[in-house]
Amino acid sequence: MSIKSKKLNKTIVKCKKCPRLVSFIKKVSTEKRKQNINENYWGKPVTGFGDINAKLLILGLAPAAHGGTRTGRAFTGDKSGEFLFKCLYKAKITNQPTSTSLQDGLKLNSTYITNILKCVPPGDKPLNKELKNCSKYFDTEISNLKKLKIIITLGKVAFDNCLKFYKKKHTFIKKMHFKHGKSYLLPDNVTLIPSYHPSPRNVNTKLVSEKMMLKLFIRAKKMSKV
Ligand code: SF4
Repeated sequence: MSIKSKKLNKTIVKCKKCPRLVSFIKKVSTEKRKQNINENYWGKPVTGFGDINAKLLILGLAPAAHGGTRTGRAFTGDKSGEFLFKCLYKAKITNQPTSTSLQDGLKLNSTYITNILKCVPPGDKPLNKELKNCSKYFDTEISNLKKLKIIITLGKVAFDNCLKFYKKKHTFIKKMHFKHGKSYLLPDNVTLIPSYHPSPRNVNTKLVSEKMMLKLFIRAKKMSKV
């Protein structure tokens, strides 16, 4: 982790810019979920994590109420993360098939994982002003990844907000549509690949399967030479 990233993460963790999200995090972390009632929730914004020299970026929407908001790490301790890390491990992107806590020894191979929004929104539905407030953190995070080759966005909101970053930087961006597995070349020669979010709903309805996700990760790995 570079000094710049450490400084950024310290700022994110203390951020209270969105009052609605600050009070929702407090509510979630004090009321807790039945099966986690004896745990101390992280109860703060959740930063990105992984390799600062990453060639691959995996981008979600926001930490889960009883996942990242509880454990302090994105996609950690929830069903979406269970599915995601099983696939990442099979694609040899991680050293283990699970992500359960900050101390579990997880390592990412030339990969960085983060969310567009660092705080969980009620009903997983952020307000536009909250996305706008938080975009400055994502803009800095992505700018710090100097060796980036591939971005996989999980879900449409992550895809749309990733494009917003590029639209701020470049006057012309060709039209891109959210389509699982499609590749788009961005102006800085990074390839953007939209993917369905690995949420339990998408997995249970078979919109996304382990086979599909694995295929996408192996392709991204080959393209980025991870
Ligand atoms: S969503 Fe982002 S900007 Fe808003 S309070 Fe959380 S960290 Fe701060």
